[in-house]
Amino acid sequence: MRRVSSWGRLSAFAHEVIELGDRSKVAGELARGRPGIAHGLGRSYGDACLNPDGVLWRTAGLDRFIRFDESSGRLVCEAGVVLRDIQHLVLPRGWGLPVLPGTQFVTVGGAIANDVHGKNHHETGTFGDHVRSLRLLRTDGQEIVCGPDLRPDWFAATVGGLGLTGLIVEAELQLRQVPGPWLDAETIAYSGLDEFFRLSEESHPAWEHAVSWIDCTSSDAVRGLFMRAQPVAGEHGTWRERRRAIPLVPPVSLVNRLTLKPLNRLYWTMNKRQLGRRIAHYEPFLFPLDGVRDWNRLYGPAGFYQYQCVVPRDAGSAPIREMLGAIARSGDGSVLAVLKTFGDRWPTGLLSFARPGVTLALDFQNRAGVEILFERLDAIVAAAGGRLYPAKDARMPRSMFEAGYPRLGEFLDYRDPGMSSAMSRRLMGS
Ligand SMILES: Cc1cc2nc3c(=O)[nH]c(=O)nc-3n(C[C@H](O)[C@H](O)[C@H](O)COP(=O)(O)OP(=O)(O)OC[C@H]3O[C@@H](n4cnc5c(N)ncnc54)[C@H](O)[C@@H]3O)c2cc1C
Repeated sequence: MRRVSSWGRLSAFAHEVIELGDRSKVAGELARGRPGIAHGLGRSYGDACLNPDGVLWRTAGLDRFIRFDESSGRLVCEAGVVLRDIQHLVLPRGWGLPVLPGTQFVTVGGAIANDVHGKNHHETGTFGDHVRSLRLLRTDGQEIVCGPDLRPDWFAATVGGLGLTGLIVEAELQLRQVPGPWLDAETIAYSGLDEFFRLSEESHPAWEHAVSWIDCTSSDAVRGLFMRAQPVAGEHGTWRERRRAIPLVPPVSLVNRLTLKPLNRLYWTMNKRQLGRRIAHYEPFLFPLDGVRDWNRLYGPAGFYQYQCVVPRDAGSAPIREMLGAIARSGDGSVLAVLKTFGDRWPTGLLSFARPGVTLALDFQNRAGVEILFERLDAIVAAAGGRLYPAKDARMPRSMFEAGYPRLGEFLDYRDPGMSSAMSRRLMGS
């Protein structure tokens, strides 16, 4: 038994960790009759990848590239391959992953099971939109190969299926051509949500990547930094990764009600220096947090929650305004609050999160009383017809999940009874 946490470090329960490494042995391992759940790199913030006191099948050892066709950009690999390794392999050959979340330390299996999105959702949709086929192993020994054109019902259940339809052992991905690692990037300071929406509108589809940082301590006159970028050809110097690290867990959260305002002010001041246009390497631009290893330790021994919601665009700006007001008044919040609009595309997965609308994501120190704020935010999201992102969640009530994911009933028919996580028990009862 080994203690395992997810990214939010809210708990560290013991798990029976089984390392998967040899593809031919996975079926035998799953058939041993103990319910469990797949675990990639544990970059989910909450309990989607946890199964306290039970089995965790760690997939990081399923890390082989199987086939890459340079002329078509089709890549077949095992499900434990890390997105960063794919990028480093294919970029020098003129290809790239069409969807990259805010960290590249994510496995292919994890990216499919949460149907992750990137800063270019308006252009490329979600990860599942680029999976041509996948191989799923069930705990009863069945192997199911599915894709958008092959057993599409299984595909729709597995993409965004939170690891609950079986274990994905390999996938075929369609990459897309990219001119290189450089981006033509621009940072614009904005004030007020109307300006944020105007910038978003103007940037879609003209700019491939668009995202904004928002100062969550500023309620009425919301201020933020809008960042957008486009791939650009040519040589623009060299970029060398310099990863700093948080060496230990501080005894208390360094992000707290006292430090929140000064930290947001500091972020604003430092990043305002980058206003305007520049050439940026895609790694620091798309994954700014990857530059600090173990940054999740900053929240101290009690860990932290992330709250990410999406609300439909036709609800207007009122729900976002209300949420930001409630957050600012509460005195809780984070230094990295992200606000962005999703494109007008519905995802493949029955339980996929991203949908047309506006998404807000913030971290919150785990402290007594923060639940009251979450309940207030839940009420705003629910009233607007929105939903929360399971990849980030550790606490949403089951009623909120059921209301936000109306295709849950269809999904349940595809569940593997031998797959169970702390999240599935919390949100689906088993
Ligand atoms: C700093 C940071 C930034 C992030 N930014 C974004 C973002 O911009 N957009 C976004 O969408 N997400 C984002 N995320 C969330 C992250 O992309 C997802 O949680 C992702 O699923 C994590 O992948 P993982 O390999 O660590 O999987 P885990 O977190 O270990 O598992 C995630 C889920 O996938 C399942 N799973 C894993 N492997 C398999 C498999 N082989 N077969 C079946 N199921 C499997 C697990 O059971 C679990 O349900 C971010 C996370 C961090 C830490």
